[in-house]
Parts: sequence; structure tokens; C-alpha cells
Amino acid sequence: MSSTTATSTNSTAANPAAATSTANPAAAIPAPDSAITIGVDIGGTKIAAGAVTADGTILERLRVPTPTESGAAIAAAVSDLVRRLTSNLGTPASSATPATSSVTPASTPTAVGIGSAGFVGADRNTISFGPNNPWHGERLGSLVSEGTGLPVVVENDANAAAWGEYRFGAAAGSRSAVVVTLGTGVGGGVILDGQLIRGANGFAGEIGYITLSENGPLCGCGRRGCWDMMGSGRALIRYATDRLAANPAAGRRVLELSGVTEPLAEIPTPSPIKGTAITAAATEGDPLALGAFADLGHWNTRGIATLVAMVDPEVVVLAGGVAEAGRVVLDPVVAGLPAELPATEFRTLPSVRLATLGNDAGLVGAADLARSALAR
Ligand SMILES: [Zn+2]
Repeated sequence: MSSTTATSTNSTAANPAAATSTANPAAAIPAPDSAITIGVDIGGTKIAAGAVTADGTILERLRVPTPTESGAAIAAAVSDLVRRLTSNLGTPASSATPATSSVTPASTPTAVGIGSAGFVGADRNTISFGPNNPWHGERLGSLVSEGTGLPVVVENDANAAAWGEYRFGAAAGSRSAVVVTLGTGVGGGVILDGQLIRGANGFAGEIGYITLSENGPLCGCGRRGCWDMMGSGRALIRYATDRLAANPAAGRRVLELSGVTEPLAEIPTPSPIKGTAITAAATEGDPLALGAFADLGHWNTRGIATLVAMVDPEVVVLAGGVAEAGRVVLDPVVAGLPAELPATEFRTLPSVRLATLGNDAGLVGAADLARSALAR
């Protein structure tokens, strides 16, 4: 399946008419290059959806809380969002899709792409498990397709976001890219030679599970020193807290910005230090905060070097809430990467960049994956 996708992605521009007729027998459906697709980003607390053009522009967007009762309820909410977006664009969804309609307006969405947290199957349809959503093997793609009359592609949310940055964001114009998402945990996506790497079971790019330090702290997964534990926002707070414990006087500014004004006899658990305070203090040049970012950068650089050795990307994108801190996250990686790779005088190192699409990456990426699948 994946090799077919790569070929058709490449052939989309060359032969859009043939690609369209394969996806839908209605001859009036616009070619994928001009069509609008719907992108959906299903998170633990909210579902964001948008109507997206071929160049990644979001024309219309909607957002609702994520239903908590069942996967079927989430599917129904997604279908409703797609119908409302379609209606906002000026065309009722279900009445426009039958082949009896001789003219399909250019503003009618032609496909739906969904990025969701959880284990998305290799069929790009079924979600077997999600840490924050009630998935139990629902065929999400089929349910939304039945609810909207449109073809649907489901992708892991980190992969969808990586695809968004690859197509329209920080890695646009490259052919191979690695996107490292630094948030509460660490996730990612790999695009190799123009193709999103999904793996045998759809789990490729789960870089948070890579062990970086076997002596590192115990992870919720039962192992020690996973990238999740060494390069995430939680890790940043741990590094700052460790430095505070070693040198209490040096932590005054970070504590102050965290809202702690009284002197601490000992450091409570969980740490009173806030991630936003570390970022703010680092921006002021506070040594303890900069040290915490240096610790974070050391481990992220090691993880990224592993990926660079394997994938040889043109671009490495740092994304996610932690990367929004900016240069304090980026600079240690750029500076440290050459020392983590052999024979750097003979190789071209990737350009390491900050993500540019923010929270829209998943939505825009999912919409574009639907476009690629439609062109298959
Ligand atoms: Zn782990």
C-alpha cells in the first residue's frame, strides 16, 4: 500500500484527472490539486477540524470537545464537524456527493483526513487503543465515511503533524525530514524520500520509546531513560529541579517566576517549578534555566543523532509545546549535533529548524494526507 501512495503522490501533479476518476466516478469532482479537503485533529480534550486548500490554507475551522463515552461518539462528532464545515463552505455535504449532481462546486470537500492520538492500524482506518480517548478497535474511517459520504484516511496524530510540517511548514521543499515533537512526552514522524514512513503496523516514528539512558529515570512504560523521560517538558522541569536541589541559591528567579515567593526548606514533590518559568528565566539569561535547557538539549541531540544516522534527513524539525521556547531549545541541538555523529567532515548535516505551523500542523497534515490518498 505504501509504495502505491508514494507513486501516486508524485504523479498527482502530472496526471490529476486520472487520479480523480479513480477516487470517484463522478466526473465533475475537481482534481485533487484544486480540491478542498477536510483535516481533523482528534486530541484528548478537543477535536479541531478545518477545510483546507491544496496549498495548506485553512478556509474554515471548527472545534468541539472530544466525546468521552465511546469511539462511536467521537466518530459521530467528527462526521458532524465535516457536515458543518461543508455547509459553511456553501454546499450541503450529503446532497452534493451522488453522481446525479452534474456540477460539483470547487468548494465541496472531496475527502477527509483524520489525525488521532492512539494506535492507528496499518489499514489507516481502525484505532485499537488511545491513552486519552475511549478507542476499542472502532473503524473510525468507515464510520466517518458512512456519516459524510466522503473517502476518509486516518493517521496517527504525530505522523499527521509531521506531514503538515513537511508539506507546508519548516521542512517544506525537502524530500526527507524528521519531525521531533517535544511536549508532555516526545513523539515524531519520519518522511523518507517524499513518503511518510508508517511501518508494518502503523507505529513507525514512535521515537519517545527510544532508550537514551539506561540509567535514566523510570518511565511510565516500565523502562528507564526513554526519550520521553529525557527530552520532554517533564524532563525540562526535572533538570531545573535537580539543579535547584544542588544549588538552592541559583534557583531564586525560576522559583519566583513559578509563583514561589517563600524560601523552601526542601523541594516538594511534584516540583513547584513551572515549565513556562524556566523558559521565561532562560530568556532573561538566568544560568539555572539555561542549564536546564542545556541538559534537555544534550539528550535531544543524542536522540536526533540516532535518527540522523538512520534516516539521513535534509531537515530536522523541532515541534511541540517545548519547542515553542525557541532558540534555547534549538541552539544546543545545532551546536551539539556534529559531536554526536562520526565523520562530520565528510557528511552534510541536516538543517535543524523550529516548527512553523504550531497547533495547525496536525489538521493541515491530515487534510493533505487525504488529498494524497484520494489521488491514489
Ligand atoms: Zn518509556
